[in-house]
Amino acid sequence: MVTTLYCYHCRTYHPKEEMRQIETKSGKRWRCIKSIEATKQGRAARETFGKQTTDINKAEAQSKARLVLNVER
Ligand SMILES: [Zn+2]
Repeated sequence: MVTTLYCYHCRTYHPKEEMRQIETKSGKRWRCIKSIEATKQGRAARETFGKQTTDINKAEAQSKARLVLNVER
């Protein structure tokens, strides 16, 4: 029989091998590795996306500034 533990993140039971005990404000809770990794990747992906958006905005602002300068000349 597989030992399952309650995952507070998914609100379901997973095999113990896929779980990690983590410290939360309300004490020690079990959470599955999958959800921990997904959160980590999600955060990294969001940061990458945010940076890309900033770069695009910067490039756009620069090209607009250049256009304005050309018109003025
Ligand atoms: Zn889970």
